[in-house]
Amino acid sequence: MGQQAFIIVDLQNDFCPGGSLAVPEGDRVIPVIQDWASRFQRQGKLVITTQDAHPADHISFRERGGPWPPHCVTGTHGFELHPDLHLLPHPAFHKGYLRDVDAYSGFEGTLVAPDGTLSTPPVSLEEYLRRENVDTLHLAGLATDYCVRATVLDALKLGFATTVLVDGVRGVNVNPNDSEKALNEMAQSGAKVR
Ligand SMILES: [Zn+2]
Repeated sequence: MGQQAFIIVDLQNDFCPGGSLAVPEGDRVIPVIQDWASRFQRQGKLVITTQDAHPADHISFRERGGPWPPHCVTGTHGFELHPDLHLLPHPAFHKGYLRDVDAYSGFEGTLVAPDGTLSTPPVSLEEYLRRENVDTLHLAGLATDYCVRATVLDALKLGFATTVLVDGVRGVNVNPNDSEKALNEMAQSGAKVR
């Protein structure tokens, strides 16, 4: 049997209240995520974070015709993980770091090296999980209807047994039911939503 990992998606200041692309109640997921992360790390299981890591002129920003206000620009406060989340050292993956390519899924991310730069050669999330013999994923974070959704759907396509923690996710809800729809889609694709 393989290992389990807990993946925390984009729990960054810009996606929390006060941030440039705040998800309503985004910070409410923190206690739930902290509980899971602490338990996993205590048990010696993997906790992994993903982060949007955009250049200042990223293609997803409105000034470049994209849908979003500038957010999670590498090196800014908004890019940092929320300060109320306390983790032991853990693998981190950055995504969306190319100026002309957007990336919602953590599986489009690249492992960050100890010095904060991207690993060379680049290590993808899938590669990392396979190497660690992980076959079961638990996911939480922001936002349900974008990066959580994309990461979960990729995980399922790649054959990982995947559970979404419903209390540990919140959505943008550009349309009022987007989060609910996303959770249904994840469940129909084979995720456990609990
Ligand atoms: Zn982004």
